[in-house]
Amino acid sequence: NRRFILRRRPVGDPVPEDFELVSEPIPDVPAGGLVVRNHYCSLDPAQRGWMDDAPSYMPPIPLGEPVRATTVGEVYASDNPDFPVGSWVMNLSGIEEYSAVELGHFTAPIDIGMVDSPSKFLSAMGAVGLTAYFGMLEVAKPKAGETLCVSGAAGAVGSVVGQIGKIHGCRVIGIAGGAEKCRRLIEDYGFDVAIDYRGKSREDLVEEIAKAAPDGLDMVFENVGGDILEAEVHNLAKKARIVLCGLISEYNSVEKHGLQNLWQLIVHQASIHGFLIMDYADRFPEGGAQIAQWIAEGKVRIDEDVQEGIENTYDAFMRLFSGKNTGKLVLKIA
Ligand code: NDP
Repeated sequence: NRRFILRRRPVGDPVPEDFELVSEPIPDVPAGGLVVRNHYCSLDPAQRGWMDDAPSYMPPIPLGEPVRATTVGEVYASDNPDFPVGSWVMNLSGIEEYSAVELGHFTAPIDIGMVDSPSKFLSAMGAVGLTAYFGMLEVAKPKAGETLCVSGAAGAVGSVVGQIGKIHGCRVIGIAGGAEKCRRLIEDYGFDVAIDYRGKSREDLVEEIAKAAPDGLDMVFENVGGDILEAEVHNLAKKARIVLCGLISEYNSVEKHGLQNLWQLIVHQASIHGFLIMDYADRFPEGGAQIAQWIAEGKVRIDEDVQEGIENTYDAFMRLFSGKNTGKLVLKIA
């Protein structure tokens, strides 16, 4: 059982020495629980936060334990009649080939007959679509004709956010890194405007957003923070809603940037809302059904970036921070 262990807490950018791939015997079945053979692990920016010993919505990953991850896998051994051997589950466990699972509310049976690859339970049928759905519908509350700006726009969450904006009749501006990602925003995801932030100063970004949204931004869906958020806040419309979903530009920095332009929130009577998908857990079936319907209707497209091999976990994970990932990053380990 190979397991991708957190050996020490990264300071700044994670380095390979922060982790170790160890090999251990397959665990025994816990009483009333399961052993799951993990096939796919979700690689998420949030995992970087869980590596820190800092107050958060979840305890830090203990040192010496595998990096926590949402996984999909097959029941390998079972002491629970509800989860027979050979059935499939989605689980919050770790990056490891086999997980001993004591059943909690994070373990759910899945029907992989519904999808062309079990990885879809980490992308199209997973938290990505739900984050975009509840962040948009419950917090941003889009109205036709409004302008939405989303950062991290070509990423897993961002690309769906923009597409939901289009479904609601909004003008959608996406901010992403590089010409190829900007091309995809327009051609693959139907955004109206794509802004490439790479190599641009905060002032450049303020200007480009102003040009794209002369009447200001009614909604900001923030995945990045830093200069991008500052530039957006400089371009708010009256009563703008900011969904604070992620701050990936800060996850590897020891010094956090904060937001300097708070005054602009007063000027525009804007609101900023810290968003956590877990708040909506009791409504996941509703959100999941709507996303599935939009996908079936061809209104939403969710791409995956599938990397292979538990021995490649570190390199795969770092794609999130270099921007190499094109779509929801998942790691195939079986
Ligand atoms: P993505 O697929 O968007 O991958 C991360 C992307 O972030 C990269 O591809 C890169 O795109 C961009 N990025 C990385 N570093 C920087 C940087 N320094 N400056 C600007 N852009 C950067 O990942 P997800 O869709 O999984 O996550 C997107 C965001 O949503 C994250 O902030 C995450 O924490 C947040 N999130 C929050 C949830 C919640 O409940 N609050 C739930 C799920 C996700 P590029 O090439 O464009 O730079």
